[in-house]
Amino acid sequence: MQALTNRARTVNKKPMSFMERLYFPAIFKGMAITFSHIFKKQPTIRYPEQKRPFSPVFRGLHVLNRDEEGRENCTACGLCAVACPAEAITMEGAERLPGEENKYREEKYAAKYEINMLRCIFCGLCEEACPKDAIYLSETFTPADFSRKSFIYGKEDLLIPDPKTEPEAYAKARGLHEPTTADPGRN
Ligand code: SF4
Ligand code: SF4
Repeated sequence: MQALTNRARTVNKKPMSFMERLYFPAIFKGMAITFSHIFKKQPTIRYPEQKRPFSPVFRGLHVLNRDEEGRENCTACGLCAVACPAEAITMEGAERLPGEENKYREEKYAAKYEINMLRCIFCGLCEEACPKDAIYLSETFTPADFSRKSFIYGKEDLLIPDPKTEPEAYAKARGLHEPTTADPGRN
């Protein structure tokens, strides 16, 4: 039968020699290769005890930011949703009521804010579009899960901890080493 391509290889059906039938030379050769790797520099690390530093331009899970007084920065202007090429962001705005000045920085705020992480391509355009320093992409991975619904992150999942009441959690979310209560912004 004629071959369709010239990539066919003829199988060598030559009977094995005595040394080949012993298998020991091949085993010793393989072991020598294995032992030689012991003295080479390891390309792997012992994760999670050791971690590689993130690239300065790494873009991970989104965080909704607060100002130094713990008030939410987001004004539900919708610019991030318009900029998002994956249409992953949805929100509902609400008017700030008298007495809520300590919760929301401006008169309008996002009563509902959702990002569908299955749609998100982590391009960072929402962060660039935001005029209020209200959203940024952190150095945290989106954890794996089994259901699609769990990848829709609501405001309660995205909002950074309050720097006044939870300074350590706030610093950790910002990727800061020392807790701080006055952080003017990421940039
Ligand atoms: S990172 Fe890009 S894809 Fe993801 S929500 Fe922001 S703009 Fe949309
Ligand atoms: S995150 Fe920024 S761009 Fe998006 S709605 Fe809030 S203030 Fe506007």
